[in-house]
Amino acid sequence: MSEALKRINPRRPFQVTAEGLKRIVLGVAGEAGASVHVAHRDATPKPLRLRGEPTGQHLVIAHADRGALTAHAHEAIAAAALLADAATAVTVLVFGDLSEKLAPFGADRVIVAAVGDGAHFDPDRELAVAAEQVARLAPRHIVMPDSAIGDGDLGRRLAARLGVSVATHVVELAPTGVAASWRGGAEMARRDLPRMLLLDPGTTDLALPFSGAGERVEIEVPPFPDSRYRDLGSPPVDSAQLGLEDADFIVSAGNGVADVPTLLALAKTFDAAIGASRVAVDDGRFARHQQVGATGKTVSASVYMAIGISGAVQHLQGIRAVRHVIAINTDASAPIAQRADLTIVDDAQAVMEQLLEATRGRNFAPGVTP
Ligand SMILES: Cc1cc2nc3c(=O)[nH]c(=O)nc-3n(C[C@H](O)[C@H](O)[C@H](O)COP(=O)(O)OP(=O)(O)OC[C@H]3O[C@@H](n4cnc5c(N)ncnc54)[C@H](O)[C@@H]3O)c2cc1C
Repeated sequence: MSEALKRINPRRPFQVTAEGLKRIVLGVAGEAGASVHVAHRDATPKPLRLRGEPTGQHLVIAHADRGALTAHAHEAIAAAALLADAATAVTVLVFGDLSEKLAPFGADRVIVAAVGDGAHFDPDRELAVAAEQVARLAPRHIVMPDSAIGDGDLGRRLAARLGVSVATHVVELAPTGVAASWRGGAEMARRDLPRMLLLDPGTTDLALPFSGAGERVEIEVPPFPDSRYRDLGSPPVDSAQLGLEDADFIVSAGNGVADVPTLLALAKTFDAAIGASRVAVDDGRFARHQQVGATGKTVSASVYMAIGISGAVQHLQGIRAVRHVIAINTDASAPIAQRADLTIVDDAQAVMEQLLEATRGRNFAPGVTP
């Protein structure tokens, strides 16, 4: 039964945890969403990491999305806190509106720079603010999430502006040095700790034994009239054609959906992308690229409507980062109801038809007031 043997990559990265470096255990650690829940649910007050007046600081910079930072950004804060000694504060500069608390992730000071909804590409303005804060705070290290857009982009611009040494796509972090994957993960490239670090997701365990002080200040961000960039806006996209990873609203079907055309009509009405459970994909009702879950896509939509989906653990893995889950299921005790913010206990077909009836003639496309 050789196919049943697990193959473990001996070069897989370590993860920085409160107990030091640990190998990421496949399928357990390194999944940011799981650790976020640990951090939020732990109601026991934790001791402050800082002892007395700090003598220096590390700076974390990240963009907020709809009032919160991503799990990836939480990891960057936790990484800075784990790097810091008891006399080094962790300051977080956040671009955008922020309504969540960052102290559980190790932030001692939070500077919120309100630059609007973040929907506009305005890198020169953010770069000016970031460079000004670096000059003012003189951080020992600058830590940022190495995301594909937003933070990763700003991080590279900032490194160039400051002329500092930067390590990108960092997967392993210790006080003595960093490592990044090399040759598609076959090797690790290592170096000493540079001033600026852009972290890949999964680098840091969010279960911290301490808390940050979490003081918050807001700063005004002046317009930047001399920007070299002009944002011409985004072209309209058919949501059904969007990659599930990029979709903000997903209507997803499971085994409890028999009438696929009605589900497609509902998704069109809501201008939503279409997802599916593995059972619905395996029996040919939906395409493989529409599967959500451990062996499908990982999504982070604002709204995920799970219709006739039981909520098996493998499916829930794919929707961990979703903000609001709405379940429609005949079984109130289905596991999806535990995850859902709202569960409608009823027949999928009946609810879909009622929703279509209630929304008839209304347009939910972005920018249109229904
Ligand atoms: C290694 C492995 C990897 C996997 N990866 C994935 C993955 O990536 N994604 C994934 O989804 N699954 C995955 N699975 C499969 C997973 O375990 C479940 O079997 C699957 O998610 C179940 O799909 P489902 O909820 O649509 O179907 P079911 O388990 O059949 O559940 C159907 C649900 O619909 C409800 N229902 C039935 N009729 C109606 C009705 N008329 N109206 C309303 N509700 C109704 C039922 O109450 C039930 O809750 C994986 C399994 C394994 C072993």
